[in-house]
Amino acid sequence: MKGMSAETVTTQDAFDLVIEGGDVYDGLGHPVRRVDVGVCGDRIAEVGDLAGVPARERVNAAGLVVCPGFIDVHSHSDTYFLIEPSAACKLHQGVTTEVVGNCGASAAPLAGPYRMPSDWAEKDYPGRWSTVAEYRSLLEQAQPALNVVLLIGHNTLRAGVMGYGDRFAEEDEIRLMEARLDQALEEGGRGLSTGLAYVPGMFAPAEEIHRLAAVVARRAGIYTSHMRSESSGLVESVTETLAVGRETGVRVQVSHFKASGRQNWHLLEPSIGLIDEARVKGIDVAADRYPYTCSCTDLDIIFPAWAEDGGREAVLTRLRTPGLRARIREDLLRERAEDYWETVTIGSTSHPDNLQFRGQRLVDVARALDMAPVDAVLHLTDLDNLQTTAFFFGMSEENMLKVFDLPYVMVGSDGSLRAPEGPLSTDHPHPRAYGSFPRYLRMACDGHTVPLSEAIRKMTSLSADTFNLPDRGVLAPGKRADILILDPRAVADRSTYGEPHQYSEGIRDIWVNGVPAMRNGSLTGNRTGRFL
Ligand SMILES: [Zn+2]
Repeated sequence: MKGMSAETVTTQDAFDLVIEGGDVYDGLGHPVRRVDVGVCGDRIAEVGDLAGVPARERVNAAGLVVCPGFIDVHSHSDTYFLIEPSAACKLHQGVTTEVVGNCGASAAPLAGPYRMPSDWAEKDYPGRWSTVAEYRSLLEQAQPALNVVLLIGHNTLRAGVMGYGDRFAEEDEIRLMEARLDQALEEGGRGLSTGLAYVPGMFAPAEEIHRLAAVVARRAGIYTSHMRSESSGLVESVTETLAVGRETGVRVQVSHFKASGRQNWHLLEPSIGLIDEARVKGIDVAADRYPYTCSCTDLDIIFPAWAEDGGREAVLTRLRTPGLRARIREDLLRERAEDYWETVTIGSTSHPDNLQFRGQRLVDVARALDMAPVDAVLHLTDLDNLQTTAFFFGMSEENMLKVFDLPYVMVGSDGSLRAPEGPLSTDHPHPRAYGSFPRYLRMACDGHTVPLSEAIRKMTSLSADTFNLPDRGVLAPGKRADILILDPRAVADRSTYGEPHQYSEGIRDIWVNGVPAMRNGSLTGNRTGRFL
């Protein structure tokens, strides 16, 4: 089913849908109003008293919250939409638009020596692609249930031009990156994301990022950054990120804003100070955050930078060369406090012998293996060919709440699509993939963060504004009909670190571009998302 065209708004004699009597939050942060919402085709036609007005369908929302569909500004579902377009784990969170291609890695453009992250690369896809146009065409054929916004990953671009080595780009290589980025934006990319904590982005100096961000600025796109450091180098990293906005005029988004590691928690305040100051000076900067105090990424991210040079094969070779393995071990022990290992829990593993360790604390895994924790890290990553992920319980709850209090911080899950069955059920993800938005709603409904109207703004209009989606994120006449009905008493996440593959609860009805994707808590099977 495709949504109807915009012209139906003016020629319609009856509404296609009236949602009546709900507690309506418009997404702009205004106080709740008990009004009706009328939809014609794929747009909202009216918000007000629509009693007695002709409508093809009326849905009673008394006692329930009606609001715009949520926008997940930070995800990594790029290629997963091609194999799980029903996106149930996101719909059950009320998400109707997802921004993919974050943290420096995007599904396209694929070129040269670039290799997709292993979790994407190991899946089977319905077709092949290399350019953004080809990816977009496959995505549209797959008919995702959500709207999709694509960012272009800097690591994808850089590796596609010059591989994974620890060196600066030559002028002709930068020009090739600029040209490919420009082409990718021409074909539908909305901006550039960096992952400067990862290979090969970590080898790129600020000047390279400025050159590429300038390309994005010319097309009024956004620059999002998983910064070089979110721990001891946080303040320097925020400074570097803000400079990209100052030097190029590009809109800047700090991804999953946090201070990792207890000894670095105090660095959050000065970082917020820098962002506030930049905003006063006119730099267009915002940030996103997931509502958990635990991060999740590849376990080998803790390896020293020298060991990451050259990408996966090179890292594995070092790990399997006794002298170098000993040096990695020494560096790990020197750089980490003794109690650090207590904060790590194993997520996904790939070798059959390691499957038993999923969801277990590293110190318990180490005990079971009769090794020191640092040796367990080397053992697991070696056996798994580096395909080990981990949960890092390194953030402060107080800091998380402070971040969510900032008026420019929106919600982003940092979680890719998953499913309790099928090809996306086989790993052990962070619960944020299933739970971020209901968890944040729960915090708001229970009074643990900003009021509900403001919490909804952080998942709707703020996100739409920041990512330049002018007709989304607000319940008002003329806007696209991405609408939710949810039960504020029941809304909650159920996914846990031990049992992650569990849908959230409390989202009752969803319309995506005016077409019902969920009714009474069950998916309808309609998939009417668009590539935006
Ligand atoms: Zn990231």
